[in-house]
Amino acid sequence: MPVPLLDLRAQHAQIKDEVVRAMLQVVDDQLFILGQPVERLERAVAELSHTRFAIGCASGTDALLLALRALDIGHGDEVVTTPFTFFATAGTIHNVGATPVFADIDPSTFNMSTAHAAAVVTSRTKAVVPVDLFGQMARLEELSAALPNVPLIEDAAQTIGARRTIDGEWVMAGERATIGTFSFFPSKNLGGYGDGGMMVTQDDAIATRLKRLRVHGGATQYFHDEVGYNSRLDSLQAAVLEAKLPHLADWSRARREHAAYYDRAFADVPEVRTPTIDAGNESIYNQYTVRADRRDALQASLKSKGIGSAVYYPLPLHLQPCFAYLGYREGSCPESEKAAREVLSLPVYPELIRTQQDEVIGAVRAFYGH
Ligand SMILES: *Cc1c(COP(=O)(O)O)cnc(C)c1O
Repeated sequence: MPVPLLDLRAQHAQIKDEVVRAMLQVVDDQLFILGQPVERLERAVAELSHTRFAIGCASGTDALLLALRALDIGHGDEVVTTPFTFFATAGTIHNVGATPVFADIDPSTFNMSTAHAAAVVTSRTKAVVPVDLFGQMARLEELSAALPNVPLIEDAAQTIGARRTIDGEWVMAGERATIGTFSFFPSKNLGGYGDGGMMVTQDDAIATRLKRLRVHGGATQYFHDEVGYNSRLDSLQAAVLEAKLPHLADWSRARREHAAYYDRAFADVPEVRTPTIDAGNESIYNQYTVRADRRDALQASLKSKGIGSAVYYPLPLHLQPCFAYLGYREGSCPESEKAAREVLSLPVYPELIRTQQDEVIGAVRAFYGH
């Protein structure tokens, strides 16, 4: 039986009636842009994230772009981020005219190292963009302490609903950031049926600015205080997401159970290093990412048996051709480069059944002769 990396059809089959009913309501209403489904979803995501405001937009990429713009970041400014992430994290910094400055990762969690971030801060640093990679939050409290007065944009595209204990209290992804950003790309834990994104904040003025930026920079239609974007969340997507949101906690729990099962199954396989979850973190496992000896050969072997896997990410951003102008080279961020050579993400989606997971485990063990 083939085991895909992600099986969206299995999920859709379980919730089809709820989702299609919600979509049909939007079609019957013929109100497609913003409107009530978007407002209801914004309230629900704000509640989940313990934030005062949530503002829907067209994608997780746009959420980052609008966040940077809302903090007036542009030409001449530097923004510190991690090179071991999806491209959008740094692409948006470039696209507002600022300079991405890369800080290497902590090898245990793959999240940005606070010490490295602190070491690359200059007087031109206008924000730091940590990424909550693969489903676990970065050490935000440590970053804030090391970089006081630097606004923090938390790229939580992979981490909606994840939480971290800070000073003895659960803190949600997005809650402590100046602006937190989410993506509803279909492969995220809360995925739409197309593109979508959201920004969360506790700050009144920033929320107002973000709302304006997503509708061409005008608080009143046809009067523009600044130049913004067309970046709205579709009502149809909001309806889908609203129907899916009540399932998110169960889906994330199922992912954690699958992760724990893998952890046990690979405990006696030294060629495979299972993920490290930082003390105090509850991961939502957007990915279950191991470090593997002979990674490429393992991936080819899994593929030959019909088992899906993926390398997130094969080339760190500081080595991407489009960022050659920044002057980084091989060796600039050695932990990110090493991770890029070793990582492999295995199927961990909620609907994965035990026999499928046993197949993945059996194939990995067999590859190493266990
Ligand atoms: C998916 C993702 C994004 C971009 O989200 P889109 O909705 O695809 O634009 C940004 N950052 C990270 C870390 C992501 O995983």
